[in-house]
Amino acid sequence: MQLNGVAVFVTGGGSGLGAATARAMAAKGAKITVLDQSKGNAEKVATELRGVAIEADVTSEEQVKAGLAEAEAAHGVARVLVNCAGIGGTQRLLDRDGIIYPLEKFLRIISVNLGGTFNCVRLFAQRLVSVEAIGEERGVIINTASVAAFEGRGDGIPYAASKAGVVGLTLPAARDLAEYKIRVNTIAPGSFETPLLLGLPEEYRKRIGELVPHPARLGHASEFAGLAVHIVENGMLNGETIRLDGAYR
Ligand code: NAD
Repeated sequence: MQLNGVAVFVTGGGSGLGAATARAMAAKGAKITVLDQSKGNAEKVATELRGVAIEADVTSEEQVKAGLAEAEAAHGVARVLVNCAGIGGTQRLLDRDGIIYPLEKFLRIISVNLGGTFNCVRLFAQRLVSVEAIGEERGVIINTASVAAFEGRGDGIPYAASKAGVVGLTLPAARDLAEYKIRVNTIAPGSFETPLLLGLPEEYRKRIGELVPHPARLGHASEFAGLAVHIVENGMLNGETIRLDGAYR
């Protein structure tokens, strides 16, 4: 699918990988809606791209539904969904003081990263099926997992589990939505230079970058965005999770 003139809905688009993807797709002529729980960031990116800003939580049926409706009123039905909203968080199961990982924290990470992705996929698809296909396809969904889905850190069980869930839903969603000519793919990034990582000390970030075989650095958000654009444009890519990690294992 070509992006020119197409309505694109980017969750977590107020920052990092989502903002870079919104910019790259806008540069291809797409009409952008940025959904983010941070109103200020959503507005900043949307204003820059002459798009629509939606302040919403991806886990809310009501808020995402209203956001899709508002985007549709401005741009027509969205044909591309990019799910970038996500949260991290590191904590061991048991720390040295005997404090156990809180169940609510686990469930919140699963709810945002996995539940939020599923929520947006289903509500986006519901609206998309009401319009005709363009040529051989109706639309494209891109989710964001992480290499943690395959090799999670010991202090990131909920994050790894949530991202493994995103990988797990990719093929069945592609199979389910094939009837409607909607493709579903997932990108599993390694470590990328975004506000998520910029909070860490520079020395630590440098060390993470040096662990990447080649190129031995953190990924640039524009490289993630470039892959997202390619996924939309390549009609044969479907049901796949693509690692984007410089051979990091
Ligand atoms: P980021 O923090 O810069 O951006 C994430 C955005 O999601 C933020 O703007 C935040 O406000 C928004 N968000 C969080 N919870 C939300 C919710 N419930 N509803 C709506 N919006 C919400 O982070 P990023 O690095 O751009 O990460 C984007 C995605 O990529 C995440 O899913 C993250 O897990 C994944 N990822 C990032 C890296 C990395 O190294 N940066 C690596 C692997 C995977």
